[in-house]
Formats: sequence, C-alpha cells, structure tokens
Amino acid sequence: MLAIPGKSGMESKIAEFIVGQLRAAGVPQSAIAYDQAHKKSHVGGEIGNLIVKLPGTTRAPRRLLMGHMDTVPLCVGAQPVRQGRRIVSRDKTTALGGDNRAGAGVVLNAALTILKHKLPHPPLTLFWPVQEEIGLVGARHVAAAKLGGPKLCFNWDGGSPSAVVIGATGGDSLDIRIHGLASHAGAHPEDGISAVAIAGKAVADLTDNGWHGLVRKGKHAGTSNIGFVAGGEATNVVTDLVTLRAEARSHDPQFRAKIVAAYAEAFRRAAKSVTSNSGAAGSVDIDVHHKYESFRLSLDEPSVRSAMSALRACGLEPEPRIINGGLDANWLTAHGLPTVTLGCGQAGIHTVKETLDVDQYLQACRIGLLLATGGEP
Ligand SMILES: [Zn+2]
Repeated sequence: MLAIPGKSGMESKIAEFIVGQLRAAGVPQSAIAYDQAHKKSHVGGEIGNLIVKLPGTTRAPRRLLMGHMDTVPLCVGAQPVRQGRRIVSRDKTTALGGDNRAGAGVVLNAALTILKHKLPHPPLTLFWPVQEEIGLVGARHVAAAKLGGPKLCFNWDGGSPSAVVIGATGGDSLDIRIHGLASHAGAHPEDGISAVAIAGKAVADLTDNGWHGLVRKGKHAGTSNIGFVAGGEATNVVTDLVTLRAEARSHDPQFRAKIVAAYAEAFRRAAKSVTSNSGAAGSVDIDVHHKYESFRLSLDEPSVRSAMSALRACGLEPEPRIINGGLDANWLTAHGLPTVTLGCGQAGIHTVKETLDVDQYLQACRIGLLLATGGEP
C-alpha cells in the first residue's frame, strides 16, 4: 500500500487495491460503495470516500473503523524497504506514505483477518476517506447517512499506538486582499495608496497587540499565523494589490472568532489610515473559510472507553491527548459520530525522512482487530 501512488484527489489506485483485497476475501460488491465527497472538493478528484458495510455476526452496536487513504504529494514514487524494525523509502527524494497508508492498512487488516478466520464481529463500517491532507475534505463532505449509524468510531492516523486522541483544535483560514491605488512612485507617489504600507501597518498592529503567533487573552488561548504574502511588480509603481493568507486556531470556537475579528479590524483600520493626496483610502476584502471545528470527547465516551481497554489488553498504557491540529475525527464528531484517533507507527510524516515503525504498526493492527471484533475487555 505504501508503494501505490495516491496523493489527495488521486486515490483511485489505492481504493482499487483495497476493494480487490476485500472482494478476494469474499466481500460482495453490493457491500462496497463510494460517496460523492470529491464533487464538493476544490480540487475535484477521481473518487469519493470508500465505504464498506459488513453485517454483524453478533448482536451489538455497529462499529466504524477508518483511515484516510490519500498521502501528501511528496510520497508519490515511494519505494518502501525494510530497514531493521522500520520501513523507509529507498528513493531518498520521497516521503514514505505511512501517513496514512498505515492507518488505511490497519482497517483493511482487521477486515481481512476477520473474514479469513471467520471471527465473530458486530456490524462493521469500514471507511476510507479521500483528501484528508488538503483540508479534511472527504470526512467533511462524507454522505454520513451511508455510514450506517455506528455507535463506536475509531480512526487510525498517527504515531505512537499508546496515544489516544480525544480532542483537537478548530481552525479557520483567512484570504485577505488589500486594495490600494497605483501611481508612479517617482513622479506622483502622493496620488497612490500603497497596499504594502497597509499590510505592514496591519501586521504590526496584530503583532504589537498579541493577536499573531501564540495568542493568550485572559484564560483564552489560540494561535494565528500569516503564512503567505504576495504583491507588487516593480519599485517604480505604488503597489495597488497585496494578498495575504492566514489561519487562526483555538479549541474555543468563540475565542477563535475573536482572533478572526481582530484580523478584520486590524486590516480595516490600516486600510483607512493610508490615504492618497486626494483623501482616498485603501480597502480590504477578507474571506473567512471554516476549516474544521474543535472537539473534545469525554473519557466516558464509549469509543474512548473501548479504545483504552483495547490498548490495555495489548499491554499499553493509554495516553489521552488533545492536539492542536485538525483530524478527520473533527468532522466525524461534527457529523454526530464521536471518533477516537489512534496511532499506527508513523514518524517524520510529510518529510523525506518519513519512516514506519513495524512493531508499532503491528501493535495497531492487534488493537484494530480487537476493536473490530468487539473483543476488548
Ligand atoms: Zn494523516
């Protein structure tokens, strides 16, 4: 699975592989479906999410096992080889794709093992989302009704198998366009309005007032970052357009909205304060895009309790974690399906140094099988 190319939007080959394995193990075609999530993606994409439903052999609440099947583009061309207890890419210019073929593999392994050994199991939904790496697109736009109403949901995407992610931050992105007015920078600079000057004043305002980087106000906390700035073509023209892209994150949705509002105010103030000789001011357009909502599961949540007892049954001490990144679990939980995220041996993800820890991966597979069969104590 690591060797199969499949960056976000190009998941058809890896999906075909998974489906081929399931069909060979006896899963009927009628149990296998794709939704249309890719149709709502900004990149389009070859296929939607892969959803497979297996009827239970025991009467118990339905369980969902998931792991996104796309990788970052850097993984395309990976040549996985064993190196001791790790898997690395022989081609040093690529990443490996353990993020998230390891997670997709845990789910597939659980299904194949159950089918091969005819193990008793509750009704199961096997869910392989697309386009996680470009903004949780598959999980966001999943046809949730097709998931069969699972009561317990487990996602594999991470490193240490003892980590149990029960919460994650929420994030918004901001596309900011500053409009100034062009003029000759030597002959009539006073007729122009510099969008660069507006940008500079706004960024200074945000940094001086503690809204950029780590943001702490009273007991509220979050982060923000301006990660992209572009504008201007020549030094002899007053720049009339600068675009910036920024993000804001917080576990507290209301505080995140405050960060976004502080950005809007800072840019508007700056735009008003830079004027031409004739008194015209600049202006600013800000598009706020909601990327994902924060969530936090209780330790009593059934998915959390089952995951922790499966870990203990495999000899691990569970470490509940709340992280500052977005996960497919953010969207599943927002769809009413509280989802725990577990590790599967990934390390150094999104870099050419990426590796997969074989022992951790196998441990994740044992945990996955326990959770798929409902065999945790
Ligand atoms: Zn991932």
